[in-house]
Amino acid sequence: MKLIKNLAQYYVDLLVKLGILRFSILLALALVALAVVVQVGITMALTGHVDNIDIVRSVFFGILITPWAVYFLSVVVDQLEESRQRLSKLVSKLKDMRTRDQELNRELQDNIERLNQEIQERIKAEEARKVAIRDLENEVFERERTQVELAERTVLLRSFIDASPDLIYYRKANGVFSGCNKAMETLTGKSERQLVGLTPWDVYSKEVAQQVVATDQEVFSSNQSLTYEQWLQYPDGRKHFFEMRKVPFYSKDGHHLGLVGFGRDITERKRHEESLERASREKTTFISTISHELRTPLNGIVGLSRMLLDSRLSDEQRRHMQTINVSAITLGNIFNDIIDMDKFDRRKLELFPVPIILNDFVNEMESISALMAQQKGLRFSLDRLTDLPFGIEVDATRLRQVLWNLISNAMKFTKEGGVVVSVSAEVEDTQASIMFQVEDTGIGIPKSELDKIFAMYYQVKSSKDNLHAVGTGIGLAVSAQLVKMMNGDIDVSSEEGYGSTFTVTIQAPLADEQSLLPKPVKTTRSLNIFMVEDIELNVTVACALLESLGHKVTVAMTGKEAQAIFKPEQFDMVFLDIQLPDMTGFEIANHYREVYANLPPLVALTANAISNKKDYLERGMDDAISKPLSVEAVQEVIVKFENELESEVVMKDTSSNESTPSVDGKDIYVHLLDLEMLESYIGIVGPDPMKESVKMFEELMPGYVDVLTSNLTAKDQKGIVSEAHKIKGAAGSVGLKHIQQIAQKAQTPDTPAWSENIADWVEEIKNEYQHDVQVLKEWLSHR
Ligand code: ADP
Repeated sequence: MKLIKNLAQYYVDLLVKLGILRFSILLALALVALAVVVQVGITMALTGHVDNIDIVRSVFFGILITPWAVYFLSVVVDQLEESRQRLSKLVSKLKDMRTRDQELNRELQDNIERLNQEIQERIKAEEARKVAIRDLENEVFERERTQVELAERTVLLRSFIDASPDLIYYRKANGVFSGCNKAMETLTGKSERQLVGLTPWDVYSKEVAQQVVATDQEVFSSNQSLTYEQWLQYPDGRKHFFEMRKVPFYSKDGHHLGLVGFGRDITERKRHEESLERASREKTTFISTISHELRTPLNGIVGLSRMLLDSRLSDEQRRHMQTINVSAITLGNIFNDIIDMDKFDRRKLELFPVPIILNDFVNEMESISALMAQQKGLRFSLDRLTDLPFGIEVDATRLRQVLWNLISNAMKFTKEGGVVVSVSAEVEDTQASIMFQVEDTGIGIPKSELDKIFAMYYQVKSSKDNLHAVGTGIGLAVSAQLVKMMNGDIDVSSEEGYGSTFTVTIQAPLADEQSLLPKPVKTTRSLNIFMVEDIELNVTVACALLESLGHKVTVAMTGKEAQAIFKPEQFDMVFLDIQLPDMTGFEIANHYREVYANLPPLVALTANAISNKKDYLERGMDDAISKPLSVEAVQEVIVKFENELESEVVMKDTSSNESTPSVDGKDIYVHLLDLEMLESYIGIVGPDPMKESVKMFEELMPGYVDVLTSNLTAKDQKGIVSEAHKIKGAAGSVGLKHIQQIAQKAQTPDTPAWSENIADWVEEIKNEYQHDVQVLKEWLSHR
């Protein structure tokens, strides 16, 4: 077919190329030739020979057929041409179409690319969306999970809170309850739902609510948690003691939201503490009662032996009497130590150095030791290895206690041989270093025990003898402590079976010799002395002493009697015992000051060592001396007030200074009140506003003191400090100087030995503020 197509094309191309005439001739010739060939061929095949006619016929046939063929072919050519032209038109059209098609294709391509891009972007966006959705789903899931966990945790927490035996509650800033646990529900007798929205006033008794609200306010104002103790009552009337802790809480932006309260039932603890306190109080009371009882006859021995020493005696009698006197004094000091035992435990032992004549002190030791050695059949000697300074300042009682302990140990642990005490001194400028050595020939101390014997209650365990059976193991521990306080040292060397040597070295300042020289007795006048003393023996001793000095004594044996028979104008001096059966000497003194304008000097007689005379002056006395009375002390106090006695100075004169106390109580005022501030304040605004302030102070103080005490029990230093601070401020504003000073110490935890003393200070504030307020009121009443 393709061949025919090509052949036809060939003919057409030839026709076009040759033109119709030439092509017709060529075609005629071709056709004639073809006809001749076909005729000759066929005739030859059929007949075996060819005739001319056959050739003519063929030529003729060729010529005849040619026009038809030409016509036919030209028609074909025309048609072909026509179709060619149509075709070429079509082709060009097709080309156009193709071009357009190409353009369209390009456009399409572009669009497709754009589309692809878009699709890609969409796919990406879709993926992002899917990721976002996934994330969101995860987040939602997480959130749900967290919520579930949170809910579980909340339930758990709630169970914990409810299971807690402690009270737990929360209150909003306006004081309204916003939640609580089961323990709190039980305490208040209200369900949480009922409690929410109520205030402490709706829930507790008035007193409790007051404390709750006051402590709430304190928490809010100080922005600090607070611990205090409080009795709370169950609906059935049971009262339990709680340690309450209030903690403020805030929003993230620091907005104050309210407080969380916790309450721990410490009733048992409280009971236990109270029974301990009671036991300790009872023990202290017991010891002081016993000691007081013992000291009374002892004072008799001291007083009377001293009086006997002033009488005519043989040398031996004098030595013995001295021994009796000193032994009784030492025994008295030991009783003091027993009372001070708890002070020792709390490291409160104090020294009160006074000037002494060292030689007298050594002589006294010698005389006691010699007597004791004599009783035990031991040799004794006291050697002064160097010259001794005349006077030193030392707490003679405590030094005597140390040496006495060493010497009596030496004699206790020595059966044969003796004891040698040697004393030596080195003086440098105003300071003396005194060494005492106590050497014995006794049982000695094993090397392994040497460092242990200074421990409290320690005694060497020895099977050989029963010498250790007598003793307490306290002496050396106390001695070591005392020597340390005297800036000294105590040391021991010993050989078992051969004896021991104890060495004590102390540092003491030299004393002013003048102050030690015997003072001339100035009083010549016979005084009328009023003495308040309840113990018969003490009365006897004191009367004997005072009367021997030429004075006349009137005695009252109870507080009541002292108030009834006393007439100030009849007496030149009053001696007041502190401890009387019905009241204290201070109470009598204050009573006198309230009732009488002019009073003779009031002198306290105390069985205790006087550590600080100021205490007595602050509490209404003009002076104080220790029992048993010594001639020197009595003379000293009489001389001190002699000028006033002789010139009959009107003691009401308020211009007298602090060291010469006046009897209208100015001394108390000076010690207790900030007179400068009060005078200037009253000078400006008059007394009434101050009286109002005092009234307010009186209302506020019980609360402050309660919180202070509860904080002390709770050992909440911050609480103590903050409450003491309030008290200091309040006391200062009404001029209560004394209370202000104690509160100042209490609010300063940096004060040395703060924790050892704080209980005493709190106690002092608690016990004394009312008295001070009374003094202040009295002072104000004269304005
Ligand atoms: P106490 O003598 O009351 O037992 P101390 O504290 O004075 O208590 O002494 C503690 C212990 O040291 C004594 O029990 C004794 O074992 C030992 N001790 C003290 N001094 C001597 C001494 N001079 N010779 C032998 N042992 C001594």
